[in-house]
Amino acid sequence: MNDSPAYVVAGASLAGAKAAETLRQEGFEHPIVLIGEETERPYERPPLSKDYLLGKAERDAIYVHPQDWYAEHEVDLRLGVRVTGVDPAAHQVRLADGTQLGYAKLLLATGSSPRRLTVPGGDLDGVLYLRRVADSDQIKAALATASRVVVIGAGWIGLETAAAARAAGVDVTILEMAELPLLRVLGREVAQVFAGLHRDHGVDLRFGVQVAEITGAGGRASGVRLGDGSQVPGDVIIVGVGITPNTHLAEEAGLEVGNGVVVDAGLRSSDPDVYAAGDVACAYHPGLGRHIRVEHWANALNQPQAAARAMLGHEVAYDRVPYFFSDQYDLGMEYAGYVEPGGYDQVVFRGDVARREFVAFWLADGRVQAGMNVNVWDVNAAIQDLVRSGRTVDTDRLADPGVPLESFVDG
Ligand SMILES: Cc1cc2nc3c(=O)[nH]c(=O)nc-3n(C[C@H](O)[C@H](O)[C@H](O)COP(=O)(O)OP(=O)(O)OC[C@H]3O[C@@H](n4cnc5c(N)ncnc54)[C@H](O)[C@@H]3O)c2cc1C
Repeated sequence: MNDSPAYVVAGASLAGAKAAETLRQEGFEHPIVLIGEETERPYERPPLSKDYLLGKAERDAIYVHPQDWYAEHEVDLRLGVRVTGVDPAAHQVRLADGTQLGYAKLLLATGSSPRRLTVPGGDLDGVLYLRRVADSDQIKAALATASRVVVIGAGWIGLETAAAARAAGVDVTILEMAELPLLRVLGREVAQVFAGLHRDHGVDLRFGVQVAEITGAGGRASGVRLGDGSQVPGDVIIVGVGITPNTHLAEEAGLEVGNGVVVDAGLRSSDPDVYAAGDVACAYHPGLGRHIRVEHWANALNQPQAAARAMLGHEVAYDRVPYFFSDQYDLGMEYAGYVEPGGYDQVVFRGDVARREFVAFWLADGRVQAGMNVNVWDVNAAIQDLVRSGRTVDTDRLADPGVPLESFVDG
C-alpha cells in the first residue's frame, strides 16, 4: 500500500464497513482507515432486538465481516477511538487519542444515537436503551430476572423488545404518547394491526399517555409515574423513543446539516471531499425529488456502496426505494416505499388482515407510495417496482390477490 493520503471512514458499523469493502472491490489501492468509537468490529444491529436478544443467534452471527477480513484487505481498522474533529480545509481528522490524520476523501458514517428520556429518574439503574450489542446483552440479562417490564415508546425498537420480553415470559406494559403504535410511520389503518398483535400476546398497551417520572427506590427504577398521576410498576424500563443522527462532526466542520448531513444523490456533502451515508445522511432522492434520511438496515447496506463509488469518481445517483423489515412474535414483515405522515389518501389491503397475512398499500392520487407485506413472501421486489413506476392503479384489482402485482407495471 502506498503513502498517498488515505480514504478515511468515520464510524465503523454497517455503513462504514460496507464502504471500505466496496472501495477494495472497485480496485482502490490506496490506504483506507476505518475508525470506530465502539470496541467491537463492525456489526449489524437488527439481531440485537430479535434473534440475538431472544438467544436464538450467536454473537458471531452479527458481524459484517470475519475478524481477519480487515487485515486481509488492508483496511486499517481503528476501534475504541472517537473522531473528535474534521478540518475540511486542511483535509484532516482529529482523533480522541491525539492523532491527526490526513485524508484525500472522508466518509461520515457516524449513524445515530437513541434519544434520551429527560424526565426525573431517567438515569436510575434499570432504565435501559437499545443501540449497541452490550445494550442487548444487558437487556437479555435483565429479562431473565425481571418480573414486569415497562417499554416506553411503541416504535419498532419498543415493539420488538416487548415481543422478546413476552417470549421470556415477562409481563409487559407499553406506554405510548400517540393513539396507536407506529402511527406516524404506518398510519391508523395498519397501526391497528400492530396494536392487535401485541394485545393478542398479552401486552398491556396504554396509548395517549405522558411519562412524568421514573420512580425508584435505592437508586433502582421501580416504575413509571404518568402525567395523570397514575403509577405503572416495572423493575426494568426499556426506552425506545427514537434516534437522532450523529451530526456533531459535520456541524463543527461547517458542513450543511439539516435532518442529518445534507448530501446530494451522489452522497456528497457541501464539501466536495466529504461524503455521508447510512443513518446520518440526509440524501437527495431522485425518485422522490427531495432529501430524505432513512434509519434502516438496507439503506446502511446499500447507500455506502454508492458513496464509495462516488468517492472513486464514478457518476452515482442513489435512488433505491427505501426498504425495511421487522419480526415480532410470529409476524414477519417487509416495507418498501416512503410515506410521510399525511402523505397518503387511501390504504388498500390484499389478503387476510384478520389472520395477519396480507399486503397493505398506501396510495396518493391513485399511485402506490409504499407497500408492506405481512407474512406473505416473495412479493417485495414487485412492490418496489410498483412504487418506482409511479403508475396509477385500479384499486379493486390491487386488492385482489389473484391479480399478479407484476401486471400493474408490465401491463
Ligand atoms: C436494536 C436495533 C434493531 C434494528 N432493527 C432493524 C430492522 O429490523 N430493520 C431495519 O431495517 N433496520 C433496523 N435497525 C436500524 C439499522 O440497524 C440502522 O439503520 C443501521 O445500524 C445504521 O447503520 P449505520 O452504519 O449508518 O449507523 P450506526 O449503526 O449507528 O453506526 C455508526 C457507528 O459510528 C460510530 N460513531 C459515531 N460517531 C463517531 C465518531 N465521532 N467517531 C468514531 N465513531 C463514531 C458509532 O459508535 C457506531 O458504531 C435496527 C437498529 C437497532 C439499534
